[in-house]
Amino acid sequence: QGQVMGGVNVDDEVNEEEYEKSIAKSAHEKLLADRKTLPVYPYRESLLKAVEDHQVLVIVGETGSGKTTQIPQYLHEAGYTKRGMIGCTQPRRVAAMSVAARVSQEMNVKLGHEVGYSIRFEDCTSDKTVLKYMTDGMLLREFLGEPDLQSYSVVMVDEAHERTLSTDILFGLVKDIARFRPDLKLLISSATLDAEKFSDYFDSAPIFKIPGRRFPVEINYTKAPEADYLDAAIVTALQIHVTQPPGDGDILVFLTGQEEIETAEEILKHRTRGLGSKIAELIICPIYANLPTELQAKIFEPTPEGARKVVLATNIAETSLTIDGIKYVIDPGFVKMKSYNPRTGMESLLITPISKASANQRAGRSGRTGPGKCFRLYTAYNYFNDLDDNTVPEIQRTNLANVVLSLKSLGIHDLLNFDFMDPPPAEALLKALELLFALSALNKHGELTKVGRKMAEFPLDPMLSKMIVASDKYKCSDEIISIAAMLSIGSSIFYRPKDKQVHADNARLNFHMGNVGDHIALLKVYSSWKETNFSTQWCYENYIQVRSMKRARDIRDQLEGLLERVEIELVSNPGDLEAIKKSITSGYFPHSAKMQKNGSYRTVKHPQTVYIHPSSGLAQVLPRWVVYHELVLTTKEYMRQVSELKPEWLVEIAPHYYQLKDVEDLASKKMPRGEGRASKD
Ligand code: ADP
Ligand code: MG
Repeated sequence: QGQVMGGVNVDDEVNEEEYEKSIAKSAHEKLLADRKTLPVYPYRESLLKAVEDHQVLVIVGETGSGKTTQIPQYLHEAGYTKRGMIGCTQPRRVAAMSVAARVSQEMNVKLGHEVGYSIRFEDCTSDKTVLKYMTDGMLLREFLGEPDLQSYSVVMVDEAHERTLSTDILFGLVKDIARFRPDLKLLISSATLDAEKFSDYFDSAPIFKIPGRRFPVEINYTKAPEADYLDAAIVTALQIHVTQPPGDGDILVFLTGQEEIETAEEILKHRTRGLGSKIAELIICPIYANLPTELQAKIFEPTPEGARKVVLATNIAETSLTIDGIKYVIDPGFVKMKSYNPRTGMESLLITPISKASANQRAGRSGRTGPGKCFRLYTAYNYFNDLDDNTVPEIQRTNLANVVLSLKSLGIHDLLNFDFMDPPPAEALLKALELLFALSALNKHGELTKVGRKMAEFPLDPMLSKMIVASDKYKCSDEIISIAAMLSIGSSIFYRPKDKQVHADNARLNFHMGNVGDHIALLKVYSSWKETNFSTQWCYENYIQVRSMKRARDIRDQLEGLLERVEIELVSNPGDLEAIKKSITSGYFPHSAKMQKNGSYRTVKHPQTVYIHPSSGLAQVLPRWVVYHELVLTTKEYMRQVSELKPEWLVEIAPHYYQLKDVEDLASKKMPRGEGRASKD
C-alpha cells in the first residue's frame, strides 16, 4: 500500500525486517561458531562414543569448558532424545534458567519449546521439550510421580562437586534405577578433580576428562585481616578500575547475598559518580538467586568498548555460571551457608569462611581468557591455616526432614542403610524422624501417615506443608496458602528507598496495625493487593515490590492447585485470626519462644537465646510468647517472621511435643502477683 506510518515507509519496513533477519542470522551463525571454540568441542566424538559404551560416565572439566551447554546438545544431535528427554540438573535455579536460555538460542528455538527449564514453582517446558534443565530438587520431586524416570533417556547430574543435599540424594536414586533401566544413560559432571570419588561410588564408572585451558592467575593476599570485607571489596574494585586500562578486563566480586550485593551496588554507583569523565564507565551487574529474570541476561552482555564491567555475584559465579571476559577476581573469602545443629534441630543461615577448594575455584574464574589476577581479602596465613580443604557436603550440615519425607514417600524406609555417598550424621537423621513424627507425618513405626502423604505433595519444607494441611481443620486454607506463598518468595516484599524511608516505614506500619504479627501482615499485604485487582500502582504507593508480589501470586496459584490434589477444600475465614495463627502454630510449634526479662527470647524446646528481628512488626511489642518462621544469625540469632501465640495452644496442638511444664508461665508464679504480663492472656 505504501502508506506512511509514523514517518516510516512500509516498503522500508519490509527491508528493515529483512535486514533484522539477516542480523539475527549472522548472530546465530556466530553462536554456532562460538560453540566450536569451546574446550569440549574437540572431544565431541570421543565423548559420544564413551556415552554409547558405558551406562554411567563421570565427566570432569573446568568451569566454562562447555559441559552444561554443549553435552546435552551433542547427545540430542546424536539421537538420544528420540527415546526420551535429556534432563540436566543444576544446584541453582538461576543457572538452570540461564543455561536453558543460552542453549535455546544456540539451537535457535523458543525457550520452553525444545529446550526448557523446570524450577520450583516455575515450569517452562512443553510437550516438545527434549532438553530439560532443572534444579536437582525438581528432579528429586519428579521421582515421586515417575519412580523410574521413564520419560528420560539421559540424566546428567551436573555440578556434582557442589554436593547439594538434593544432588546427593539423586546420586542414590539414579544409581538405583540405572540397575533396572539399562537403556538409561547417566552422566555425572563436575568442575573439580575429586572425580575418583564419584567414580568409586558409581561402581568404578569411567572418568572422561576434558582438558581445560587455564591461564596463570596471580594471587594477592592482604597483609592484615580486613575489618570490613564489603568496604575492602569496593575499594579494591575501584582501585582496579581507575588504575588499569578499561579494555583490559572485567571484575568479578564474590559477595554473600542479595542484601550485600545491593549495598555494594549502591555504594559503587555513588562513588563512581564523583570520578569525573576521564575515568571509563563502570557497568555494575548484580547476580544472585532472586534476581529478576529480565536482569539476569545483563551479566552476559559483552562489555561495550571503553567501559568496564564489575559483576557482583554470590557463589553462583564460582562454578555454575561462566562469565566471559573476567580478568580480576575479588574474593572476600565468605559465603552464606546453612548451618544446622543436630542436637537442637535448629537451622540457621550463616556467613562463613569458604574452603580452600572454593577459594581456588574463585581465583580460577579470572584466568579463563588470559592471565588473571585474584585479590583475596584475607591473609596468606588465613588461607593456609584457617580455611578447610573442602566444603562440607550439605547433607552433613542441614535439616533432613524434607528429604526424609520425600524418601519415605518413595517407599524408602531403611534410611540408615540408604546408599549415601557421604552419610549424614545419624543424629541428624533421627532429628528429622523426630520432627516428622512431631508433625504427625510419620507414625511411631516411622511409617508415612495420611497427613504425611498430603504434606509430601507440597514442594515446601515440612513445617510449611504441615501448616497448610492443618488449615483444613481450622477452615482457613485460603488465607494460609496466601501466607505460605508470601513466606516462600525468598526475596523481600517491602522496599525502602533511601530518600523516602519515612514514607516507606509508614506504609509498612499500616499492615502491622493492631500488632497482628508478621504472618498476618503478610496476609494483609496479599489480600489488599488482590482487592485492587493486583494493581501495580498500588504496590508503588505502598512501597511493595511488584515482582515479589507477582511471584507470590504464581506460587499461591500452584498451592491452590495442590490443595485440590490432596483434597483440602479452599475455605476462606479472614476474620478469624486465631484460627489462622493456630494453623501456623500447627506447623511451627517447634519454633516457639518465650520472652525473657531483658527483652530477649528463649526457645522453648531446646533453650537458646534469640531475638526478634528488627524488621518484624513485633520488634517493639515483644509479646510474651511467639512462634517464628526462621532463624538468621547476623550479629545475633534473630527470629524472622514472628507471630504471637498463646502457650496453651502448644499443648493443645502438640501434646506429644509439649508438656504442661514446658509452657507453664513460671515467671508469673515467681513474680509478685500482678506483674506478670501473662495476665493479659
Ligand atoms: P561448563 O558447564 O563447562 O562450566 P558452560 O557450558 O556453562 O560450561 O559454558 C560454556 C560457554 O557458554 C561459556 O563460555 C559461557 O560464557 C557461555 N554461556 C553459558 N551460559 C550462558 C548464558 N546464559 N549467556 C551467554 N553465554 C553463556
Ligand atoms: Mg556448567
